[in-house]
Amino acid sequence: MARPGEGGRSFGGGGFGGGRGGNREDRGERGGDEGGGRGRGFGRRKVCRFCADKTLKVDYKDQGQLKYFLTERGKIIPRRISGNCALHQRQVATAIKRARMLAIVPYTVAST
Ligand SMILES: [Zn+2]
Repeated sequence: MARPGEGGRSFGGGGFGGGRGGNREDRGERGGDEGGGRGRGFGRRKVCRFCADKTLKVDYKDQGQLKYFLTERGKIIPRRISGNCALHQRQVATAIKRARMLAIVPYTVAST
């Protein structure tokens, strides 16, 4: 004979929440876009541009190219942001250091 009611759990409480509006929509920020907010407007690149384009070479004489890897203040942009692979980031860093010696790019930019 089964006894009814012994282990009966009442499904009553609706868990947490429910306090203020079930809408889970923050005001202001709406996510959903790709990117996750980590990008710094630098264009997230999956592989390094030098690897992607074999014809591209790191050239310490190419100011336009080097500038791309420098901040406004003349610092070298870290790999995580530039997206370069270790090999090419090194080449870029070396090229920038060379270029600095040749005064192609600045060591530092004086702040305003
Ligand atoms: Zn590379």
